[in-house]
Amino acid sequence: MDLSKIANSELLGRLEKLTRTERKMTHLILCHINEVESRRLYAELGFDSMFKYLTKYLGYGEDSAYRRLQAARLLKQVPAVAEKIENGMLNLTQLTQVQKCLKQENHLGHKINNQQTVQVLEEIQNKSSFETKRFLAQEFNHPIQTHEVIKPQQDNSVRIEVMLTEDQMKTLQQAKDLLSHVLPDGNWADLFTLLAKKHIHKETGKTVKPNNTKSQSLKCEGKLTPSFTTERKRKHVKVTLKRELLKNANHCCEYIAPTTGIKCTSTYQLQVDHRIPLACGGSHSPDNLRVLCRTHNLLSAQQWGLS
Ligand SMILES: [Zn+2]
Repeated sequence: MDLSKIANSELLGRLEKLTRTERKMTHLILCHINEVESRRLYAELGFDSMFKYLTKYLGYGEDSAYRRLQAARLLKQVPAVAEKIENGMLNLTQLTQVQKCLKQENHLGHKINNQQTVQVLEEIQNKSSFETKRFLAQEFNHPIQTHEVIKPQQDNSVRIEVMLTEDQMKTLQQAKDLLSHVLPDGNWADLFTLLAKKHIHKETGKTVKPNNTKSQSLKCEGKLTPSFTTERKRKHVKVTLKRELLKNANHCCEYIAPTTGIKCTSTYQLQVDHRIPLACGGSHSPDNLRVLCRTHNLLSAQQWGLS
């Protein structure tokens, strides 16, 4: 399918329509899953469970099949979920999270009635997966796990689970945002390694070589926010001014879409942007400067015909 000749507005319109159709289809698929499961039709086809039928026969990936099954069970219990799926207020990941909680509560002998479930679903509408998990953990009083877990894995890698306080998480997230120029993948393991290497270098003067790391980005080690560095030489925006701009912008992208009024607020690879580029006669005066994420910085350059 060649979409390259379609006008932007039509392309966006089409995708919106397709997304609505997809959500309707998702709802229909969940209804069908429930009916097929209640008639045990998968057994006649040679499968011992609906999950196997979905993965082996219908070709769903294991995660996709699991999420659909969990969501279908919740839909069966609370039919009002249908409307929320169709209008995009709840997604399969959230429904899976809720269903898992309900199952857990059931195991613990806590009866959650439909009215309570509906209330929970209302609370998590339009929330991210992280926010949903946090709400559910608070609502269902999930025990706080404080012990650290280090699990060796077969390829000599190690899986670590640690508990962070809200403040510790905020601090790490801030470091991750500030280093997102160097760590574009946003990977926590790379962040911890980079911070450790910087500290080792500071204390011992020795540079720790990247060893068996999958991340290419660590090769940039030592160059904090490279785009800022090059920008400084080229554009001469003072570091103190940049800091002030970032602070005023609350360390978020300030881009507001003219068509939808949506503010980006990304914290990824923030850069100081000239509203009117220097190349087009703009100046370094603060009212010509704003903080943008990498995506909107590129968009701005594109709109000025500079990329
Ligand atoms: Zn942005």
